[in-house]
Formats: sequence, C-alpha cells, structure tokens
Amino acid sequence: MTAGAAHLFDVPSGGISLAGGVPDLSPIEMRGLSEQVGRQIRLGGPTILQYSTMETPSDLVEAIEDLAGRESMHPLASNLVPTSGSQLGLVAVCRALVADGEYIATEELTYPGALSAFAWCGARVAPVPMDEEGLVPEALVETVTRVRASGGRLDVLYTVPTFHNPTGRTQGTGRRQRLLEACEALDVHVIEDNPYGMLSFTGRELPALKSMSPAGVTYLGTFSKVFVPGLRCGWIDPAAQYHERIRGAVETATLSPSPIAQAIIAGHHRRCGWDRAIARFREIYAGKAMTLSEALVASGLDRDRWSWREPDGGFYLWLTDATGVDASGLAEAARRAGIALVPGARFGGTGAARAGLRLSFSGASESELHVAADRLCAVISGAGTV
Ligand code: PMP
Repeated sequence: MTAGAAHLFDVPSGGISLAGGVPDLSPIEMRGLSEQVGRQIRLGGPTILQYSTMETPSDLVEAIEDLAGRESMHPLASNLVPTSGSQLGLVAVCRALVADGEYIATEELTYPGALSAFAWCGARVAPVPMDEEGLVPEALVETVTRVRASGGRLDVLYTVPTFHNPTGRTQGTGRRQRLLEACEALDVHVIEDNPYGMLSFTGRELPALKSMSPAGVTYLGTFSKVFVPGLRCGWIDPAAQYHERIRGAVETATLSPSPIAQAIIAGHHRRCGWDRAIARFREIYAGKAMTLSEALVASGLDRDRWSWREPDGGFYLWLTDATGVDASGLAEAARRAGIALVPGARFGGTGAARAGLRLSFSGASESELHVAADRLCAVISGAGTV
C-alpha cells in the first residue's frame, strides 16, 4: 500500500474505521487455537519450524479441497502452489505472466493491493467497465481490441468475480460463461481472485470461473477470510501450462511457505472442518451489512443522491453519488470527523467511478456501524455538494 493510501486507512483516536477489509475474528475459539499451536509444535518438532518445500502437505490439500469443492473446483494436489496469502500470489502470478510494460485488464474499480502489485511488476492497467453484475464481457472485448490495435500487449485479465472488492458485485453464471467465452476467443488468460466466495449471505453458490475453465484460469485462494489472515496462508491453482513459471516466482519470493502456519490450518480443519466457521462468518457479516444499510437509511441520507445495494456477501458496501462528484474530498472530510472509508479513486476509478465510497462493515462492531452512518451523514450534509 502506498503512503497516501495508509493515510486514508488511519483514523484519529476515538474514530471508527470502515476502511480496511478486516475480518471479524470473534468466531475463532482462541483457547482451542492456542492448544492447536502447542500440539502442532509437539507433534512436528523442529521440522515444522524449519524451511519446508513447495509441495503442499496432504492434510492441507484436504483443507483446500474442502473449500474448493464448494465452488465446484477439484484441484490436483501436485498442481497446487502454496503462498503466504493471495497478495503474494498476485505479485507472483503477475510477475510470471505479464512482462514489463504489458497490460493487464481488470474491473474499472479494483482491489488496491492488486493495483500496487501490478505497478510493482511494471504492468499497465487496462480498466474494463462494470455494471451491476460486475465486469461486462463485451466491454472487455472492446478494451482488449483497443489496446492491441494501439500496439499494446494484453493477454491477461485479473478479476474478482464474487463479492467484488470494492463494489460487492457478483457475476452470475451466465455472465461467467460469456466472460470465459470472450477470454477464450481473445486468447486472454484469467486470474481469478476469490477471497470472499465463501461469505454468501443468501446461500446462493456459484461455480468458480476456474471450475468452468481449468485451462483458461489461474485461481488465487486464501485462508484469510474463512479462518485468520495472520497466519498468511493461501494457495494458487494455476492453469497447468503456467504451473512451473508461477511456482518458480513464488519460490523466488519466499523460498518456502511457513510449515507451522500450514500445520495449524490443517490441524484446525481436521478437528473442526470449515462448516461451522463459515456459517458463523456468514451470519455475522450478513448482520453487519444489514445494520449498516439500515443505519444509512435511518441517518437520513438523501436517497435521490446516494445509492447502494445491500451486498449479498463479502465485506463491502459501495455507496455512490448520483452527481458524479469525486468522493476523495468527502472521504478526507469524513476522516477528519473520525470515520475512515475509502473513495473510488483508490480503486483506480476514473470519471464517474470516483463518485463512490467503499464502506467496510466487516471489522466494526454493530454499534460502531450506527455511529459511523450518523457521522458520515452529518459530514455529507455539512459538505453540501463536495
Ligand atoms: N485479494 C483481494 C480482492 C482482497 O480483498 C485481499 C485482502 N483484502 C487480498 C487479495 C489479500 O488477501 P491475503 O490476506 O490472502 O493476502
């Protein structure tokens, strides 16, 4: 994250942060987890504190399969590449697939960590317009055609198809199909980043893009949002033709994954499975999404000007201003009033896409969400036509 972004995520003391995509870890049973850590060290001895290898241990493969199967994916153990979280996965995949100066297509608003990773790898971003169902396949075709016609090289698309960061939007099955057909016709490889897919509030389950096109998609998975982010553990299920390159990039960046973190996750999965934690996370985040949405209504926000959809899953509520004014000034005013949130410009938005604010409801308490909505509304009313 750049220094400028860090400033926006800061909140004055006594303030409330709706800025970061921070999980609520209250469902994690700390006593059980600390016993798990002790047990893994007793069982694994020095071996799990040593450097390890890039092979994914079989019990961790089971933990990954248990998640992947829920979105119709069936990864091959030998193809999995372990990461220290999807952020590292993103850097490695970008480094492996996109050369300096080449383009990577992505939603017109996207995860700031992806934008930093692309910039760091020397890739240029080709933003693709979105609608309420996320990235528009026909717009991707236009974007790729335009970049290629002007002599640019664009062979890769990065997308967050489910509970998108920052808009919360989700591509339906038909949209996914059309997107993959377009990518196949254009010979564009897809990087699918899916940290939020398990956090559906409606029970609606969608197949991952990876499940629909194993050779056309490289998948980034993480334990950060279904368990804990602090263990820094995730995986890549690359398209087989890119396996060596991507594995090499991850190995160069990290030497090996953390064996103790992997053992803790695998041990936790063996003891508890994922069902209970996922159900609890869904319940908590669905409750918070509804609280924030209702609190915004109750705060008296002008509904002719400000609109949002209550999200169906994930961490984010996307608030847009019909006047199309860049929300950066408003975010700064909100920060001074003790509410941190992130404006569209931080997600690479240009033009009207800057007239949005991302409100992360995941990490704040229910009462903080009420206070935040009231303060935000006061800032907006005071700010007039910022
Ligand atoms: N991708 C997206 C879309 C994210 O929102 C985040 C974290 N907020 C990440 C990747 C990074 O996840 P990890 O903790 O696995 O590095």
